[in-house]
Amino acid sequence: MSRPDRRRFAPPARPAGVQGPLAEPLRRRLYLAALGAGSAVLVLVWLLTWQRGPYDPYVLYVHPLLLLMCVWAAAWLWQGRSLVVAERVVFICNVLAVGAQMGLALIAPEADALGLASAAYWMLVALSILSYLLLSARGALWVSLALYALCVVLPWAGLALRGRGPGDLPELVRVQLTCGAILVLLYGLAWYRERFLLERGERLTLEALANTDALTGLPNRRALYGAVEGVLRDAAQDHPACLILLDLDHFKGINDRYGHNAGDAVLIQAAQRLRGHLRSTDTVGRWGGEEYLIVLPGADAAGATQVAERLRREIGSLPFAEVGPVTASLGVAEAQPGDDLDRWVARADAALYRAKAGGRNRVCVGGPPPAGRVGA
Ligand code: GH3
Ligand code: MG
Ligand code: MG
Repeated sequence: MSRPDRRRFAPPARPAGVQGPLAEPLRRRLYLAALGAGSAVLVLVWLLTWQRGPYDPYVLYVHPLLLLMCVWAAAWLWQGRSLVVAERVVFICNVLAVGAQMGLALIAPEADALGLASAAYWMLVALSILSYLLLSARGALWVSLALYALCVVLPWAGLALRGRGPGDLPELVRVQLTCGAILVLLYGLAWYRERFLLERGERLTLEALANTDALTGLPNRRALYGAVEGVLRDAAQDHPACLILLDLDHFKGINDRYGHNAGDAVLIQAAQRLRGHLRSTDTVGRWGGEEYLIVLPGADAAGATQVAERLRREIGSLPFAEVGPVTASLGVAEAQPGDDLDRWVARADAALYRAKAGGRNRVCVGGPPPAGRVGA
């Protein structure tokens, strides 16, 4: 039996508690809230304009259409239907609304033109936010730049048609510059978010690689140390917990007879069998070579022994592809008060050693209390 290296690894760092791209249910809720608030604003502005004036064709005729869109989109999302369809429809409707606003500003009486054009810029900001939700930062930048260019060119074209110079309308310049600054800020935030998510993704991938055994896909020893330390902390508060150390018998002989690749295949199949016969709260990992460590939170020695027996049968009862029957020996150790990781694993190791010495293909329980041979 190979004695595992007792070097201690730091437990794997936990992934940062920062969320990635907004999860779909959250986005759905956000959209529903935004559509509700938007509908209320549309209705309020329409009522005020209708009662008090001044006459504003955009509010009186386009707002009801936008309200219809909001109601449709809210009902669509409420029924749990495609988020992407709702996003696209809302986006296109808003682009059309901005176009309508700008178009009306071109033909409206001069006194109303500025108000209409200014309102379109705030719609443009909302549209840009939506496009950053729908597209990549670069894609959304192009969309918002194209819309912004349109919103800058059209009012000046209108002014030129009316024979007015830029000096006449500092208010329009102010609104255009403010809107431009907001768009730059939005792009900066989106760029930062993309970079952050990319780096976070890379970090999580590296972390997963650092904690996974490349051959079997099980947690490796480094990850197991993390799992064992977590369970030990709970065990210190009187929660029972057990470790099982499982070692395939005469594995060197398998390599010698059938070749290293066949040995690898056995290690992979054994990992699958073990993983398939444990609770989701249990952890099985590759401790090294042909040894696996199983962490059983909440299990006392008797319960863990039953689990170990089940795993022993699971390995031994069905032949492995290419090599035929393989057996395993297992050592069980329950966490004791004052245990540290090395002591606990050493007890499981000692129990495994006795299982080997007792003839292999069996389970032994580590002491204290006095250990005994359990099955064969
Ligand atoms: P015992 O019943 O006492 O456990 O005997 P054993 O032959 O299983 O144990 P021993 O420690 O003598 O040999 C373990 C062998 O496992 C030696 C090593 O070459 C082999 N081994 C370790 N890691 C791998 C691996 O990743 N792939 C393969 N194919 N073999 C491995
Ligand atoms: Mg071994
Ligand atoms: Mg072995």
